[in-house]
Amino acid sequence: MKSCFKHLGFICILCASAANAITLDREAFTFISYDLNVRVEPEQQRLGVRGKIILRNDSQTPQKIAVLQISSSLDWRSVKAGNKPLQFVSQPYSSDIDHTGALSEAIITLPEAIAPKSTIELEVAYEGVIVLDATRLTRIGAPEDQANRSDWDQISAKFTAVRGAGYVAWYPIATEVANLSEGNSVFEVLGRWKAREAGSSMNIGFASPTVAGDATPPVSFCGGDELHAITHEGSPKFPWSRCSYQPLGLAVPAFTLADYEIVDRPTITIYNLPEHAVAAESYADAAEKASALITEWFGAQRRKAETADLARPDAAPFESGPLLLTPLMNSDSKLAGLVAAHQLTHAAFSSPRPWIDEGLAHFAQALYLEQQKGRQAALDYMGLHRAAFAEAAKQTAAPRSEDEVNRALVNTTSEDLYRSKAMCVWWMLRDMIGEPALKKALAAYRPEEDKEPSYMPRLVQAQTQRDVEWFFDDWVYRDRGLPDFRVVSAFPRKMLTEGYMITITVENLGGAGADVPVTVRFKGGEMTKRLEVRAKSKGVIRVEVPTLAEQVIVNDGSVPESDMSNNTFKIVAGEVSK
Ligand SMILES: [Zn+2]
Repeated sequence: MKSCFKHLGFICILCASAANAITLDREAFTFISYDLNVRVEPEQQRLGVRGKIILRNDSQTPQKIAVLQISSSLDWRSVKAGNKPLQFVSQPYSSDIDHTGALSEAIITLPEAIAPKSTIELEVAYEGVIVLDATRLTRIGAPEDQANRSDWDQISAKFTAVRGAGYVAWYPIATEVANLSEGNSVFEVLGRWKAREAGSSMNIGFASPTVAGDATPPVSFCGGDELHAITHEGSPKFPWSRCSYQPLGLAVPAFTLADYEIVDRPTITIYNLPEHAVAAESYADAAEKASALITEWFGAQRRKAETADLARPDAAPFESGPLLLTPLMNSDSKLAGLVAAHQLTHAAFSSPRPWIDEGLAHFAQALYLEQQKGRQAALDYMGLHRAAFAEAAKQTAAPRSEDEVNRALVNTTSEDLYRSKAMCVWWMLRDMIGEPALKKALAAYRPEEDKEPSYMPRLVQAQTQRDVEWFFDDWVYRDRGLPDFRVVSAFPRKMLTEGYMITITVENLGGAGADVPVTVRFKGGEMTKRLEVRAKSKGVIRVEVPTLAEQVIVNDGSVPESDMSNNTFKIVAGEVSK
């Protein structure tokens, strides 16, 4: 009997912990403030962090447990509240949000339950190593070299570069499990984390080991507002820097520590490795040249763009707002200009909404190409991007209503959509309402006033007589797929004076409407007019040409379409009505 009770008791303990696990809400708290001191030891590849974080309960229920997560290569030392150590259980938590594929989770019992909207300040201490580790990629089958090209973060004696949430959890986060082998899971989890943190503030102090008086300390660099210093200009020197993000926005806090040289220009500061000095100068030149176009479209820079070099020549570039980490190897000025146009746009314009923030930065690249090489070069460039999201659209041929909402530009966490598709949307808007109107709408945008998804569409509508509500419905608020245009008929009629009037009927078989160019080709030239064709409808346009037309083509490639094979219509001679 006694042993039986014991047995039951054991089972009940299991029940209790299982219940606990189920009710653990990892995304209940928003980390509204970070104030951390980070000590980096490159020789040991180590990091030691002490500091304070403030958590706000953004859930509907009081929370007695808080979860803090850091990279699995780091260990929790202590967690305190009001100077008193708190009890916590430290456990590994498998998640692909970190390069190691796991997190060190501290499950903390708080002194009292935190009511919804209330906050608690925690004092934290943790440390460990950050070494090259691409486990999350190699375990799903990525070749090691390719995986390391993507997950290049590490602290090392020669070169240190570490990115934040989504790469290395070097500051505490709290997220549900993210799994690379489950579709968009990592992007979704990361997207939720970033959205929660957009209004938070972060202050980080970095310190690295002292160096002898005659040695040059490494240059530390981070993506936020920075202050560098070396105290004691004698011997030894104490290099330190402070970095702050107010607010964090969509930034991913990152830091580097290397023997950088600095190229400082009015629009951009470049931190380059000595062997990449030529490419650094070339990139700076390209940025200076692209800046006039970017200012004309997106206003003066709010802050200086910063680029830091990566040691690994094939490392994948990384961007976080106006910060770009990239191997500065290439001195091709055209390519540099294209990259700089994107980066400078982030330095001039920011939005908490990815389809605006990233969409416009990619749109700026298309504008840059158009300025350099003409409209066709821009259309070709957008065509490369279009392949990505057109493929995704095909897979959801019969879109479910939740996809229409989840995949909408205002909600999506898919990069293909908020980068590539959004770029095309901005381009179409420019074609529809004209350059001056779109520039005015962008100039009126204030990120701090962007509280509703309809804020930007309203700014655009305010600048034009034309109704653009339907366009935002089809392309931004919902994912209605893509248009599919075809020319149903083209009837030429000889005019009394001279030349021909062609009446063209265009049908849109797709679920999204657009304002599309219709081009009539004739001997010796062509004539283009624009026609609005809503989803599942037809539109008619009349075009005057000097001689008999040969061909009608709908869409020059500026409108993303699901099927471009049915866009040309041949006019057969003889079909002319008098
Ligand atoms: Zn960007």
